[in-house]
Amino acid sequence: MGKVNRDEILNILNGYNKDEITIATLASHSSLHMLKGAQEEGFHTAVVCEKGREVPYQRFRVVDDFIMVDEFKDIVNDEVQDELRNMNSIVIPHGSFVAYAGLDRVENDFNVPMFGNRDILRWEAERDLERKLMVESGIRIPQKYGDPSDIDRTVMVKFPGARGGRGYFVASSTEEYHEKIDSMLKRNWIGEEDVALAHIEEYVSGCNYCIHYFYSALNDEVEVLGMDSRYESNIDGVCRIPAKDQLDVGLDPSYVITGNHPVVMRESLLPQVFDIGDKLVDGAKKLVPPGMNGPFCLQTLVNDDLEVIVFEMSARSDGGTNTFMDVSPYSYLLFGEFMSMGRRISREIKTGISEDNLDVIIT
Ligand code: ADP
Repeated sequence: MGKVNRDEILNILNGYNKDEITIATLASHSSLHMLKGAQEEGFHTAVVCEKGREVPYQRFRVVDDFIMVDEFKDIVNDEVQDELRNMNSIVIPHGSFVAYAGLDRVENDFNVPMFGNRDILRWEAERDLERKLMVESGIRIPQKYGDPSDIDRTVMVKFPGARGGRGYFVASSTEEYHEKIDSMLKRNWIGEEDVALAHIEEYVSGCNYCIHYFYSALNDEVEVLGMDSRYESNIDGVCRIPAKDQLDVGLDPSYVITGNHPVVMRESLLPQVFDIGDKLVDGAKKLVPPGMNGPFCLQTLVNDDLEVIVFEMSARSDGGTNTFMDVSPYSYLLFGEFMSMGRRISREIKTGISEDNLDVIIT
């Protein structure tokens, strides 16, 4: 298997009827506003949908054409790819698309034009690459501990793979780290292979802000389009129990995302927000050319020194964009009209079509 050939993608794109472009995605994650936004920008819309998941797409009337599949991962099947190309589709990736299609297949044999930078998806999926990108971009991230015996403050321990924070834990000493690991091994929550790959980082005591950026490669500008904060189970439930009872209940906190709140930051933090976004875009240009392209998200914690500390990055549309399917305070400031992340993507594609430089933003 070789990498998807860029010339082949550009050939396919050249063969498309630009007056009849379809915006397509997988029916999951942050696709509702992608489809709605595409409609608002005048595009035909299509969704690849697992049987049984079609109801929201039908009831919200955001889809012109359904491509029904037995399983989400079938989006990479040859017949589905053919159908997408026959509709002049540009596919918008999101977290579920990458998870179900599989990074290898997206990189190697998904021969349908996609919006964004295909190569950067691996950089958010692999913790070491993600860290390299953030460090080399000069962004403040939590300190990493190479060895449990170095633990000198409260740390958060994470295991490999995106598992929605399940099984993550907090420890304040080397002893506590080993006690918790042993107890998790005994309960079969983790295996020895997980322990070998455990990632230990400084626990940041602060408030959560996930910042949704859009990098317009056509305008060379980083836009801040919205922010959300995570609602996580059971940590947010545990916090509703008075401290003296928390000990008695003996619940182990977990960080499984269950929803998102829209949020705004105090105004004085916004210069940092733009600075971090600009730095990441500059870093990505050097490390993963052509760099960021379209939506990306930085998950941050703001501590009481008012530092914005980034603990996670998505190099594509993040699920928290669902908090502004219409508009956010920030997207309103910039556009003065309804502007979801989905609509912003379609607007960029529309500009690419009218200026005849789609090749800059399609991968
Ligand atoms: P996943 O990628 O598996 O969803 P995250 O890295 O996003 O996991 O972490 C899940 C949650 O854990 C975050 O939303 C946040 O509440 C908390 N968290 C993650 N890293 C830290 C940290 N360094 N300090 C404090 N809390 C953290």
